[in-house]
Amino acid sequence: MRLSKRAEQLEPSVTLAASAKATALKAKGLDVLSLTVGEPDFATPKNIQKAAIAAIESGKASYYTPSSGIPELKQAVTKYIEQNYGLSYLPKNVIVTDGAKFALYLLFQALLNVGDEVIIPVPYWVSYGEQVKLAEGNPVFISCQQEQNFKVTVEQLEAARTEKTKMMILNSPSNPTGMIYSKEELQAIGDWAVSNNVLIVSDDIYGKLVYNGNQFTPIATVSEEIRKQTIIINGVSKSYAMTGWRIGYAVGDETIIAAMNKIASQSTSNPTAVSQYAAVEALNGNQETIEVMRQAFEERLNTIFPRVAAIPGFKLVKPQGAFYLFPNIKETMELSGYTDVNQWVDDLLEEAHVALVTGAGFGAPEYVRISYATDLDTLEEAISRIEKFVVSKIER
Ligand SMILES: *Cc1c(COP(=O)(O)O)cnc(C)c1O
Repeated sequence: MRLSKRAEQLEPSVTLAASAKATALKAKGLDVLSLTVGEPDFATPKNIQKAAIAAIESGKASYYTPSSGIPELKQAVTKYIEQNYGLSYLPKNVIVTDGAKFALYLLFQALLNVGDEVIIPVPYWVSYGEQVKLAEGNPVFISCQQEQNFKVTVEQLEAARTEKTKMMILNSPSNPTGMIYSKEELQAIGDWAVSNNVLIVSDDIYGKLVYNGNQFTPIATVSEEIRKQTIIINGVSKSYAMTGWRIGYAVGDETIIAAMNKIASQSTSNPTAVSQYAAVEALNGNQETIEVMRQAFEERLNTIFPRVAAIPGFKLVKPQGAFYLFPNIKETMELSGYTDVNQWVDDLLEEAHVALVTGAGFGAPEYVRISYATDLDTLEEAISRIEKFVVSKIER
């Protein structure tokens, strides 16, 4: 059977592939340390687990829910946005989805026609471009260098704009770079988007994971005009350690949300009921555990950053949020005769038994992504191995 062009042309997720490779080697009995995953290593907090169990036992998790989500959860989302963003929305401005990933998917499906352009700053999260292509849109990539802290500028946006530009994606704090846009930068980008009628897709999934006194400003909060021009994408996966539950949401213009809901109703019907009840507790319940997790990430970052920065030929800026380091390893590769980052990552796995994700999947083939969503002992040991690997290759 001939597959669809759509399926044939799609790139599989490099992050999921890298962690699958590490898991396969581990299953063979090798002592592999995996710094590939984009998910917290913590278990979902107990109060959230208990809310899920209660929803199952009471029977209320047995049934289909409204396709845009249960009223309690949409209410919890509007309350969360009110408290954390200072913005008022109504439940009709909210759709709950099967993870933030599916909120993005629905948004592109609801808004893009053939050839519509979506501006995506590089390095980017792996799924943006592929999801745009699935909706028959054209991703337009803008390369953002380490020297500019990987942040897109209005000059770059303006140079990329055509009459087909429909949206731009903004991910702050960023996966993979950990960079956060300042209020001034957001004001400039937001004003540009407003005057050119470009919809801002604001992926705020790491908004709670910021460190060392850095501040996250959601672009929707910068001005009323910008808020109207923005769809907020968020979810419980990263900040509440709930990746497996698959609950995300989009907030914004009611007409766009309604169109997304129509597509959801004909595809997934609704996000899993039990997960929605769990997410209500996540957003409404005690918030102390998420601060404990945030502090753990911060400690890891501060411990490992200087060590990674000292690896010969590694160049990196200190991340402000999320849970990744994103070093440029061009010099390391040159010193040891590598021309292909994928080869370097493969050899690191084969020879040093440390799994990282190639920067190629993020549009940045001189980089690797190191996730620090794992315990400090593992991180320290993994960094020692990387160091040894790099030094031995250079000396050879
Ligand atoms: C993890 C991630 C998502 C998707 O999260 P879900 O688990 O689908 O809610 C979206 N954007 C970025 C940048 C991510 O890292």
